[in-house]
Amino acid sequence: MNELPENQRLRRQIEEILVGKTITGVFNATKPHKFLFWFGDPLSYNKLLTGRRIESSESYGMFVDLLTDEHTKISVGDGTNLRYGTITKKVPDSYQLLLTLDDNSYLVFSAGMFGFIAAYDGIYDEMYYQKSRNSISPLTDDFDERYFDELFAKSKSTLSAKLFLATEQRIPGIGNGVLQDILFNAGVNPKRQLKSLSDAEKSAMFRSVKTTLKEMTAGGGRDTETDLFGNKGGYKTILSKNTVNTPCPVCGNIIVKEAFSGGAIYYCPSCQKM
Ligand SMILES: [Zn+2]
Repeated sequence: MNELPENQRLRRQIEEILVGKTITGVFNATKPHKFLFWFGDPLSYNKLLTGRRIESSESYGMFVDLLTDEHTKISVGDGTNLRYGTITKKVPDSYQLLLTLDDNSYLVFSAGMFGFIAAYDGIYDEMYYQKSRNSISPLTDDFDERYFDELFAKSKSTLSAKLFLATEQRIPGIGNGVLQDILFNAGVNPKRQLKSLSDAEKSAMFRSVKTTLKEMTAGGGRDTETDLFGNKGGYKTILSKNTVNTPCPVCGNIIVKEAFSGGAIYYCPSCQKM
């Protein structure tokens, strides 16, 4: 699932590839998706979006915005995938939304377990979106150690390091994917409770949030996720489905995978001790 680094890549690709193109047609879902959270009636998107010219893109945490003329926007987030292609090739036959563009290309929206798609010309008042938009991005200097310490102090001390990073949109854009390498680089086991962490470990976690996300973003996203063209990102994950049961790059011990708090965790039992 796309998280902060992949959403930044998507924003860049929209700016490079889609800006200047005009939406010529809107096609609604080929089959209903139980956990696709629409904003407004998707059947009204045809009227709203046809003829709109794509002007820019922005990304906040788990969301990416596609801005068009006439103050119209499309926001996609958390579990929604975007693909771009030319109509001369085969158009996907399963999607949640498909836009045709004036240069014989298309943009297709699909979702995994869940997703958010919103097209609108007013305010998108979805709670997760607003939280993503209004929070301080870990990629900015304003996200400093003091800010991190505040988030830490406001959280329950029995919370695990994993849930601290990935839940309640404390740090929008961090999900169960990027947190694995963040905690590896900090030397912290994802199951550790916050109250068990020393000041040095807490500090290492803060530094790792900043440096790991920067590295992932600079690499164009993780190698477990795909971009607008279906290509994998250039950031090589240390801990992911690609590396489970292989030797840890630091100590050589075998990387393990476990189910923990709703979703898999990966860790090196030796570098990230309990
Ligand atoms: Zn190790």
